[in-house]
Amino acid sequence: MQAKSKRSVIILGCTGSIGTTALQALATVSDLFEVVALSAHSATSKLAQVAQQWNCKRVCISNEANHDQTLFGDGTLVYKGSQGLITMIKDTEADIVLNAISGSSGLAPTLAALESHKDVALSNKESIVMAGEFLFSYARSKGVHIIPVDSEHATLHALLQAFGVDQIESLVITASGGPFRTLPASKMVDITVDMALAHPTWEMGAKISIDSATLANKGLEVIEAVYLFEFPPTNIEVVIHPQSIVHSLIRMHHGALYAQLSPPDMTLPIMAALADQTIPLQAVVEPLDFSHLTLTFEQPDLEKFPLLKHAFACIALRGGYPIAYNGANEFAVEQFLAGNLSFLQIAQLVEEVLAHDWSTPYHTITDVFSIDSHVRHLAQQVFKRLM
Ligand code: NDP
Ligand code: MG
Repeated sequence: MQAKSKRSVIILGCTGSIGTTALQALATVSDLFEVVALSAHSATSKLAQVAQQWNCKRVCISNEANHDQTLFGDGTLVYKGSQGLITMIKDTEADIVLNAISGSSGLAPTLAALESHKDVALSNKESIVMAGEFLFSYARSKGVHIIPVDSEHATLHALLQAFGVDQIESLVITASGGPFRTLPASKMVDITVDMALAHPTWEMGAKISIDSATLANKGLEVIEAVYLFEFPPTNIEVVIHPQSIVHSLIRMHHGALYAQLSPPDMTLPIMAALADQTIPLQAVVEPLDFSHLTLTFEQPDLEKFPLLKHAFACIALRGGYPIAYNGANEFAVEQFLAGNLSFLQIAQLVEEVLAHDWSTPYHTITDVFSIDSHVRHLAQQVFKRLM
């Protein structure tokens, strides 16, 4: 009998939170998967360790300053820099690419994977927020798929497959509410970086942790959902659910709601995307334990967390607004993490950038990158004023 070939995976951002969770899950089914290429930005020692564990012969260190060939064994092809990353993606044969890079640096790798006819398990939501107007038609033109990894979208994807779109009134995305859900608005001036990084239910990278604290993450996810599922923003709802057990719901025309429940663990959405229905997932996913389970829901406070409100406005306006939202927010979060902006100034900076006119529609990827750099230029000017 012929041995079944393994499913080959490229993991971008393998040293981060999603990358690490993916590798842990894959290790439990290593007879079914092979890791054919890996990338990290700065964590070279960790990258070398993972490459050795998986006998992976292609790696990329996307931050050229951290390039160190000596950490890798003979016969390992070591790519460097952002251009090296694109070359590695295009030159490596694989069934699927997991893009777990954080921030807007993930967009070019997503495009490279699609261009080289590879399916993408897309955790990097920024790719969709920035280039959503053409990413999906581009993928279709290449005959490949974009499979969402974000837990809300992965579960909506499954709910839509199970129920079909015809009877659905709206898509409901849950949000934990972040660490400041119950903090009085008057106390938000005192928020420090450490307080904002301490997420109550999820362990994640720094950027998404801050986004969860401001609810910009949910804003990005609203935009992501509009592009992914082609529902208008008026038919996307956000509900706060602090326990992070219900990841998404669909509201039917007749009023009933169907929900997806699973523990707050990214293993299921990652593996659902990577396995793409080719392997059973029982081995990698813990079943939900009903004992001591309390589920609560509440409306988001859009005054306390204005970035969620602005995301709805940006995706309703379309054009370059989602790019402006993403770029200004990313810039502001970097400055907050560096100690140069206060927590409340993140929203303030984004608002000031959004006050400019971003209505011109974009048509090409070059347009996207040029709007993004214009956004960052303006964000820098606003930042200097806020300082
Ligand atoms: P992390 O910050 O933990 O990891 C980011 C990864 O990307 C690391 O491997 C890092 O390398 C690499 N990286 C950082 N900057 C660059 C760059 N400029 N170019 C190339 N690679 C880079 O992030 P997360 O794993 O938390 O998040 C990854 C993506 O998944 C984000 O888009 C996030 O929004 C999304 N997501 C994350 C969830 C989570 O639970 N963490 C849930 C849902 C979505 P190095 O370690 O060397 O710095
Ligand atoms: Mg999410």
